[in-house]
Amino acid sequence: MGHEIAGEVAEVGESVAGIAVGDRVAVEPLVTCRVCAYCLSGERQLCPQKQLLGAGQYQGGFAEYLEVPAYLLHKLPDDLSFEVGALVEPLAVCVHAYRLAEIQPAERVAVLGAGTIGLTAVLTALELGASEVYITARYPHQADLARSLGAAQVFTADEDGTAQLQTSAFGRPFDIVVETVGGEANTFAQALSLARPGGRVAILGLFTRPVKVHPLPLALSEVKVFGSLTYGSPGHLSDFALAAGIAARRAEQLARLITHRVPLQEIQQGFETALDKSSGAVKVTVAP
Ligand SMILES: [Zn+2]
Repeated sequence: MGHEIAGEVAEVGESVAGIAVGDRVAVEPLVTCRVCAYCLSGERQLCPQKQLLGAGQYQGGFAEYLEVPAYLLHKLPDDLSFEVGALVEPLAVCVHAYRLAEIQPAERVAVLGAGTIGLTAVLTALELGASEVYITARYPHQADLARSLGAAQVFTADEDGTAQLQTSAFGRPFDIVVETVGGEANTFAQALSLARPGGRVAILGLFTRPVKVHPLPLALSEVKVFGSLTYGSPGHLSDFALAAGIAARRAEQLARLITHRVPLQEIQQGFETALDKSSGAVKVTVAP
């Protein structure tokens, strides 16, 4: 908790270069060893010593000040608000998944689930060249947001909606399917059934129980299924740096995800609002 962070640099350590007091930054919350084979190859999300800010020994963003290693900072443009800057984190999660999927121009994408990750996955796919994105959404306010972020078609996440999505995929299955629901949902098998032969399925949702899947269609269709965890540096630019660029270009659209704001003193109320989906909450921002 508190791992989506943006703010202003108040003080820098003696040996820090390239970052100055007053810089506006987003914080990549992944502290890693920086010397293991994973770190050196750009796959720092797999570092055995990785730690997330806000968990374990490292301070998170629910504070007026926090101390972080300088290598985690990404500068933000002057006109980008901190609350949108904090959304660079979920954007980077989506960028990572699409890079692992090796997304190609004009590909078609289906996203299952319209929470913060699902919604940012719509915008990120379009930004990375997808021709159209379909999505399932559980709540009307999520459906409205998905459309405003550019989703071509929105289906309800119930039986009717998923059947409709399945029907529309039958004639024209998707190049990439992004699963963001997890928990106890049945979206794993559903995701596999929506992908075209040779298509890719990214699992971002955190499932809390095993799921039953028939492997035969996978073998017959060469669908590639992979898990995607946080972000790293698969190319010249890190996922986080790429995401910071997207946030700057799409700031106005991203700001629509922020449905509630609470000061630090009312953080408990913020958690309650975020948990109560009937509140219309997508992203509850804490402003220390
Ligand atoms: Zn490492």
